[in-house]
Amino acid sequence: MVELAGVQQRYGDVVALGGADLTVARGELLAIVGPSGSGKSTLLNIMGTLSRPSRGTVRIDGHDVAALSDRELSALRARTIGFVFQQFHLSPGVPALDSVADGLLYSGTSRGERRRAAEAALRGVGLGHRLWHRPHELSGGEKQRVAIARAVLGDPPLLLADEPTGALDSRSGTAVLDLLHGLHRAGTTVVVITHDRDIAASLPREVRLRDGRIEHDSAHGSAYDSAAGAEVAR
Ligand code: ADP
Ligand code: MG
Repeated sequence: MVELAGVQQRYGDVVALGGADLTVARGELLAIVGPSGSGKSTLLNIMGTLSRPSRGTVRIDGHDVAALSDRELSALRARTIGFVFQQFHLSPGVPALDSVADGLLYSGTSRGERRRAAEAALRGVGLGHRLWHRPHELSGGEKQRVAIARAVLGDPPLLLADEPTGALDSRSGTAVLDLLHGLHRAGTTVVVITHDRDIAASLPREVRLRDGRIEHDSAHGSAYDSAAGAEVAR
């Protein structure tokens, strides 16, 4: 689903990502964990094709991102990737039903069809009784569930979540994680970014970032880091 090779991201003198190799198979559920500033969001933005890396190659669902125009990239993103962010990104004043339905605005479906699909998605995250609530009338956990319903509306094979529980109390956080587990069981590839080591350790695979480098990947055994991996390969 995702294949990163030698991916580097620089911002002027700042090396946000120092050369990451990461392969995510279809249907995986994994955590990318690391302290603040370790490059997690940078990595997620690159996996999500929201930014192009300074160096290295990115393949998403078999497509080499560098070979695509911005327009082709948007199309790939729209059909392949759902995003969830810590701060929900819901527009103020917009009812849950429309926040979700608007995800299909450019899909050529009618407003009625979009709303029907949105209602089904909201029921799927347990919010069938909150269709007309606006963001300020929803709890943090409910807002994140609206954001998840929006992210999975077109049934994208890949879901990228950047600190999805970061703004939530532990009970709402657990409910959000349960939803992500459910999507994984249904076949979605789910990547969860977190600084919470307990959450990371509870997922089937854990990739640890430090100072822009992958210092551990549980898929590669206990002592993996990119540099040491390269040594062994030689
Ligand atoms: P994390 O999500 O793990 O907290 P980020 O990926 O957001 O880390 O950032 C990694 C490093 O890159 C940090 O030192 C951050 O300050 C820097 N950085 C991120 N985005 C930019 C940017 N647009 N311009 C300059 N530096 C950035
Ligand atoms: Mg971040």
